[in-house]
Amino acid sequence: RTTLVWLRDDLRITDNPALAAATDRGGPVVVVFVLDDDSAEVRPIGSASRWWLHHSLTSLAERLAELGTPLVLRRGGAERVIQELVAETGAGAVLWNRRYSAAREIDARLKTRLREDGVEAESFAANLLFEPHTVTNGSGEPYRVYTPFWRACRQRDVRPLAPTPARLSAPPDPVPSDLLGSWQLLPTAPDWAGGIRDTWSPGEPDALIALNDFVDETLVDYGLRDQPSRSVTSRLSPRLRFGEVSPVQVWHRITSAVPGADATVADKFLGELGWREFNWHVLYSFPQLAERNIRSEFDRFPWQSESEAGAEIEAWRHGRTGIPLVDAGMRELWRTGYMHNRVRLAAASFLVKNLLVDWRVGERWFWDTLVDADEANNPGNWQWIAGSGMDAAPYFRIFNPVLQAQKFDPERRYIRTWVPEVDSADYPEPVVDLALSRRRALAAYESTKAGG
Ligand code: FAD
Repeated sequence: RTTLVWLRDDLRITDNPALAAATDRGGPVVVVFVLDDDSAEVRPIGSASRWWLHHSLTSLAERLAELGTPLVLRRGGAERVIQELVAETGAGAVLWNRRYSAAREIDARLKTRLREDGVEAESFAANLLFEPHTVTNGSGEPYRVYTPFWRACRQRDVRPLAPTPARLSAPPDPVPSDLLGSWQLLPTAPDWAGGIRDTWSPGEPDALIALNDFVDETLVDYGLRDQPSRSVTSRLSPRLRFGEVSPVQVWHRITSAVPGADATVADKFLGELGWREFNWHVLYSFPQLAERNIRSEFDRFPWQSESEAGAEIEAWRHGRTGIPLVDAGMRELWRTGYMHNRVRLAAASFLVKNLLVDWRVGERWFWDTLVDADEANNPGNWQWIAGSGMDAAPYFRIFNPVLQAQKFDPERRYIRTWVPEVDSADYPEPVVDLALSRRRALAAYESTKAGG
């Protein structure tokens, strides 16, 4: 009988446990992707992510066709759509790789419904290194701090890779599918995606090339990862976000290369994958990560309202704050859908601390403009910067974006790339005084603590 494989954040053929299990079952395989803008549990993806999704699905459809089965596209509330598809195809089983956001409630309900209807429903571990419910501290609780969390993870084995299907057979009758074009995931007028197109080529084949190139050529220099003008980070974040490559593949590729590479840089890199893992584990136990402060005393933090800070927020979004490192980052983001991590820290801290704007305003802008916008990493990092998050620094850290630039972009190569007018009269004065706004933020923090 036909097996239905429902893909979500795992747009790949290699190391895809659900797809591998479907192949093992024998019989026709129908692979479906559902664009779900309807279910309350699903956070609708932002504009840059939609661009990525379009191209990643195009690539996946080509790969699946080569293997022998088409990619079926459907739109709507996934719970209903999958059940309809089971009825249409007479599928005897539905397989998927697990997700860990609030959307997992959809999966749990669906699994129950399908089984009640006599259809097999099975889910697999695929998109994290470790299943969140299995990594707990001595009292069986999820870890709240990264370092012990990652130490515990490092003592465990990562699962082996799932085998890659050599062939998939299609059902005898074609299954109707939407056309990707009808989803309108790409911008029309204005076409803002030019810079993103020039920067990225979505899809699994390019993701695997990017992984190999990084490990073979760049990893040795990863110690320079904080310098935004050096291209020494992996740029795998959108690939991991859409599952064009799995963290397990990255893990095995890095650890098997370590004898040749420097173990310290490899550990540093794996530690960053560990932050991804940590944020997903946090989201698993705190599904409102993008909406609510983890530390509730921040509920009384005296943020400026969006209307009070409207002009400053606009200047921040469009890279016109008069603070070169922040402006360079915000322009890189707008143009390419990406921003270097060190600059994300500086730009986010500037918005939250110097402009005293609620972290959720920044989180939403990043959500819309990043190609790697990730349901756990984005709010997790914003809450970390705001100090409201799980593993917050013990003091109220305020990055100084001028000192950050001197330290990490001493020759101003990154800044000049994105803000060529930085040394001319055309460049604006700072929208705030850094020293004064720093004192204002510290006073706001003290009042928040005192109110508790
Ligand atoms: P590398 O240095 O090569 O790291 C490898 C992988 O590790 C990354 O691809 C990513 O999956 C993970 N990783 C690295 N740093 C972090 C981190 N600090 N937190 C969690 N995972 C990390 N990352 C996202 O993937 N999506 C987001 O939406 C996102 N939003 C962010 C918002 C803010 C305010 C900040 C400060 C950081 C955010 N990050 C986010 C984390 C980080 O900036 C990016 O993962 C990183 O810049 C991606 O580049 P890379 O793949 O070259 O990283």
